[in-house]
Amino acid sequence: MKTILSVYLFAAAFILNTVLKAQQDVKILCGDYLYKEYLNKKYPGFKESYEKTLFQIAEQVEKNKQLRTTSTQYTVNVVVHVVWKDPSENLDDSIIYNQIQVLNEDYNRLNADTINLRSIFQPIVGKVGIHFNLFQIIRKQTNQTFNVSLTSGGMPNQMKYDSLGGSNAVDPVHYLNIWVCKIQPIMIGPVQLGQILGFAFPPNNLSNWPSNSGAPDIREDGVVIDYRCFGRNNPNTLTMGSQTITIKGRTPTHEVGHYFGLRHIWGDGSTFGSNNCTGDDGIQDTPNANNQSNFDCNTSKNTCVDTNLGWTTVDMPDLVENYMDYSSEDCMNMFSQGQANWMIATLLGPRSELLNANAVNEIHSSLKFNVYPNPNNGKIFIQSPTTMNTAFVQIQDITGKIILQEKINFQNGKVALDLSNIQKGIYILQITNEQIHTIEKIAIE
Ligand SMILES: [Zn+2]
Repeated sequence: MKTILSVYLFAAAFILNTVLKAQQDVKILCGDYLYKEYLNKKYPGFKESYEKTLFQIAEQVEKNKQLRTTSTQYTVNVVVHVVWKDPSENLDDSIIYNQIQVLNEDYNRLNADTINLRSIFQPIVGKVGIHFNLFQIIRKQTNQTFNVSLTSGGMPNQMKYDSLGGSNAVDPVHYLNIWVCKIQPIMIGPVQLGQILGFAFPPNNLSNWPSNSGAPDIREDGVVIDYRCFGRNNPNTLTMGSQTITIKGRTPTHEVGHYFGLRHIWGDGSTFGSNNCTGDDGIQDTPNANNQSNFDCNTSKNTCVDTNLGWTTVDMPDLVENYMDYSSEDCMNMFSQGQANWMIATLLGPRSELLNANAVNEIHSSLKFNVYPNPNNGKIFIQSPTTMNTAFVQIQDITGKIILQEKINFQNGKVALDLSNIQKGIYILQITNEQIHTIEKIAIE
């Protein structure tokens, strides 16, 4: 299990070689067997909660080949927990909206930098077809610090529990929970050795992951992102030594990839710094690499011979533009079709309950925002049935493209929204706050 933890540990991590060496030593100390026993004792039944088999995934991948031709778009509701200590960590709503936008661009191939992909990889570009709907923002001030333990090899989990100074997951079976907080640097004594940018758990027992790779407890399922790596418009900077890390909101894109079962593009064959091509990501169309990129954009790399990619017999260079590498965030711009299929199969398989979010959430089903008039000529009113005075509005066109998203403030339970700048047509309006989630089809005439 320590090996697995190492995989998480290095998920989107920037680690110096010395840390890798230290981690290797830790790994020898902490046995696979011991850790599994520990988890089974601490969380009875955790395996069952994530028991999803290779067969199920493989079956879904097959089904999905047909489903994907219909260009279905699936909606996943997202809860963002901002767990902050210093005010700089308490990210503005605009940064959270921006990050959701980046996810929606990257997972629907609407990102502006698609043009940067080398033409040789155009044949395998994948459009995943997941729409991320910001369902709720929860803010929590804390005195807790979130430390990575080199001795236990563990990622911090306190941000996921109210009782430990964090914020409890909202129904993690039906919602993608993302915790944004400061992840403390990895220290040995006074020396900073590295920094985790984020980490995530895949569903348990996917065929391309070692067994029991899932969250140790269902309440910990989701994604954790360092507050400096969230949102393209994030004002904070992250430096490691003399290097300033470029932040374009791609750490969450990468971590959500893990959440939907993707592995690193280099297959983690080289976790401890030594190059080798034996690891594989379990996705056929992606060329293998013998190691991660180092937050750069080296398109001249061709580190492994790959002639069985299913779409070419030519040995392809390393796919540094892939979100599941550690290339610079302004270098990465694509998932492959194989990765897209894999993620949708994971969504329709072990994570299928995400698609039933609204139907099962009792809190949100009984109350509704009233929207009128409909059809309208560019001006609508929203009436709130509760005394909460804010909500989040999002308008999408019928292709899923986000036209408008903003926070609204109710005056006496009512707010007017000016849509006169939006072209006439049919749109999907979503209004969300901590109590209510309303979806309406509206017509601007
Ligand atoms: Zn990763």
